[in-house]
Amino acid sequence: MRIPIIAGNWKMNKTIKEAVAFIEEIKPQIEGTDVEVILCAPFILLKDMKEVSKGSNIKIGAQNMHFEESGAYTGEVSVLNLKEIGMDYVIIGHSERRQYFGETDENVNKKVKKALEYDINPIVCVGETLEERQAEKTRDKVKLQVEKAIEGLTHEQASRIVVAYEPIWAIGTGMAATSSDANEVIEYIRQTLESIYSSETAEKIRVQYGGSVKPQNVEEIMNEPDIDGALVGGASLDPQSFVKLVNF
Ligand code: PGA
Repeated sequence: MRIPIIAGNWKMNKTIKEAVAFIEEIKPQIEGTDVEVILCAPFILLKDMKEVSKGSNIKIGAQNMHFEESGAYTGEVSVLNLKEIGMDYVIIGHSERRQYFGETDENVNKKVKKALEYDINPIVCVGETLEERQAEKTRDKVKLQVEKAIEGLTHEQASRIVVAYEPIWAIGTGMAATSSDANEVIEYIRQTLESIYSSETAEKIRVQYGGSVKPQNVEEIMNEPDIDGALVGGASLDPQSFVKLVNF
């Protein structure tokens, strides 16, 4: 009953021209898919991507936003602008933002609330470092991140979020978590959501896996019972690789 998602996270890659050509190329090749297809790209690309994806099943998302609607925040982008260009999704709290740009759990929570207020679905990223995994702290870490990210959301709001479990050691390293390890953590994330809300609400929330997903391992990952999708960086940059991911 949860619709599977394949989301590309292009990070700081591609020009407007390349993004438009990418969508034109993949559009006819993913027409019949039952999967929800999302591409998340740098701000400057988004308006053109939205336009060229019209009439297709491709949804477009940003990779960040500010939690205030306007004000003296030089260099930041507001939810109002994302709404204005018809964004469907926004990634919040990616580990690269937490690591390099000082994103805190508190800001993640504010951004999640703001996005939901404007009917943009947040993809909330959580995940442990290698040291935390080795110290068997994975569950504690993701539980805390999930709890803080969704603090104060109603059942209805919570059901609209997507959680992306992305172990930091698996991102961009070629070392994906085994599908069973990923499933185990994701099952635990859903149990956490259930304890906060209800099994009914938790069953509605989609939880993706991210970290070195590629055409070769996507099917195994997607076949796990609790994994509802993949958030893909490197392997989403090539159009034919992305088509393979969608048509897993
Ligand atoms: P990767 O990145 O697929 O290149 O590991 C995933 C992500 O950061 O979302």
